[in-house]
Amino acid sequence: MTGSLDTARRIIADARAQGARTLSEYDSKQVLAAHGVPVTAEHLADDADGAARAAEKIGYPVVLKGNAPDLAHKTEAGLVEVGLADEAALRDAAARLLSKLPAGGGLLVQEMASGKREFLLGMTRDAQYGPCVTFGLGGIFAEALKDTVLRLTPVSETEALSMMDEIRAAALLGPYRGMPEADRDALARAIAGVSAAAVAHPEIAEIDVNPVIVADGGRPVAVDALVVLTSD
Ligand code: ADP
Ligand code: MG
Repeated sequence: MTGSLDTARRIIADARAQGARTLSEYDSKQVLAAHGVPVTAEHLADDADGAARAAEKIGYPVVLKGNAPDLAHKTEAGLVEVGLADEAALRDAAARLLSKLPAGGGLLVQEMASGKREFLLGMTRDAQYGPCVTFGLGGIFAEALKDTVLRLTPVSETEALSMMDEIRAAALLGPYRGMPEADRDALARAIAGVSAAAVAHPEIAEIDVNPVIVADGGRPVAVDALVVLTSD
C-alpha cells in the first residue's frame, strides 16, 4: 500500500471538513505511506464477509481492529485482536468487534507482523523550533524506559541513521538473540518519512507511530499509526 501525496492531502482535507481531530489508523497509515513510511498490508471491511475476503488476500494469520477517526486507544476499547489464524477465528473476532465499534467505524484487516522488537516514531511541533521527530524504544516498556532521541526537521536518512545509534537500546537493532539485524536503511527511510510528512502537511499537529515492529528478515513495519490534526 503506497498512497500518493495527492491522496494524503485529500485524506487530511476530508477529515478536517468532517471535524475530526485525529485520522483513523487506516488514513494515518495512508498519509505516512505517501511519504515512504513502511506500513502493514491492510484493507478496510464493513462486515465479517468483507473481512474474510480481505484476509484471504493478505494471508493468515491476520490482525483485526476497529477503525475510526478520533479513536486513539484501541486496545483499551477492546478493538484489537491479533494472531487470528484462520477464517473461523476471524469471523468470531469480527462479531466481537462489530458490537463495540464507535458510530461510523469499520473493520481493519491487516497482516500480522511477527517480531518481538518494537520501536516508536513520533512528531510534535514545538512553538519555538517547529516540527521535531522522535525515534526510540516502543511497545509496552516505552513509557517506563523513555529511551528516545529527538531531532529538528527536516531529518535526512543519514541523520536518521545516527539517531538509531543514540538510543540506549541500540543493541536491539543489531543481530540479537538469534533475531536478524534490523534493516537500518529501511528504518532510516521511515524516520525521514515522518519528517517529510510533517514538513509537507502543516495541518498535522502530531504523529504517533507505536509500534514499528522489526518483522521477518529485519524489515521494519508500522503496525499502528495516529495522525493528530491541528485544531485551527
Ligand atoms: P492501540 O491503539 O491500543 O495502540 P495497536 O494498533 O498499537 O493499538 O495494537 C496494540 C498492540 O497489538 C501493538 O502494540 C502490537 O504489539 C500489537 N499489534 C497490533 N497490530 C499488529 C500487527 N499488525 N502485527 C503484529 N502485532 C500487532
Ligand atoms: Mg499502538
